[in-house]
Amino acid sequence: MITTITFNPSIDRMYRVSSMNIGEVQRVVSAKATAGGKGINVTKVCKILQEEPLAMGFLGGYNGEFIKEELRKLDIKNKFTKINQETRNCLNIITDDKVSTEFLEKGPILEDGDLEKFENDIKEVMKSTKILVASGSYCQNIPLDYYEKIGNLCRENNVKFILDTSGEALKVALKSKPYLIKPNTDEIKQLLNIDIESRDEVISAGKKLIEMGAENVCISLGKDGMIYLNAEEVYEAKVPKIEAVNTVGSGDSTIAGFSVGILRGYEIEELLKLSNACGISNALNIETGFVILEEVEKYKDLVKVTKLS
Ligand code: ATP
Repeated sequence: MITTITFNPSIDRMYRVSSMNIGEVQRVVSAKATAGGKGINVTKVCKILQEEPLAMGFLGGYNGEFIKEELRKLDIKNKFTKINQETRNCLNIITDDKVSTEFLEKGPILEDGDLEKFENDIKEVMKSTKILVASGSYCQNIPLDYYEKIGNLCRENNVKFILDTSGEALKVALKSKPYLIKPNTDEIKQLLNIDIESRDEVISAGKKLIEMGAENVCISLGKDGMIYLNAEEVYEAKVPKIEAVNTVGSGDSTIAGFSVGILRGYEIEELLKLSNACGISNALNIETGFVILEEVEKYKDLVKVTKLS
């Protein structure tokens, strides 16, 4: 089973407007609210890929109930730890010329006992999990080394840990030797405090992350595909040119592709084809954390994977 953790889920509210003019009344053409947060996006895409993922993390208040109901409608299993504080809202305003402006709330502050409750649940779930995906930032007052703690728990239970987070939380978590991490170039630049201009520099940054503890590193490059490497091999995946509609969540969809491919025992080439095709399909659709199975199948064949070394 694939289990996902979203410590800071959100109701993702999307407003479509013709144009956006600061300081003026904006008329909303259409509005949509969905269950969001990076780990939840991964869960939704795993479900579309016909697996039975389990979503975990923290949910509270009215917004928490809304997210549970949305997951119920999608027939997605979940075991969220209930908290007293309200789960956050995130707002994405998209104009006719496809410019997107996001407003992200910080999210709840945990109370005494919340983390302990979560810990009991995750230890129980580990017994039936093969792949654990943790995505996104912490909600407020989770200790910085908490992903490292989860990584260690995965190791003890022989569970593959896929971590998609950034900054100090990622740096610390590398000590637990996660099975796979997926930074994009901006995240790597910030993490390693370097500039990246060329493919060779992407590869050297990836090697540095392997030295720091990651077993496998996928560096996603948006419309330029990705570089995937481990201590032995380096691969490049090139993607076809597409008319992207909304690339937010393409990284999460890529992670879903990896999780499903690893669970099914895919070889690297097939794994990279699936994960990129998921990122592409997400980018072709307006909804975040959404892919179309037929589209994924079509684009799998159009992703070009090359072994560089
Ligand atoms: P997010 O954090 O919003 O989920 P990300 O920055 O982590 O995204 P990206 O590198 O933008 O992830 O995209 C992940 C994958 O999705 C890419 O490796 C690629 O396969 C696909 N993809 C994203 N944008 C495009 C695009 N414009 N054209 C083709 N493929 C794309």
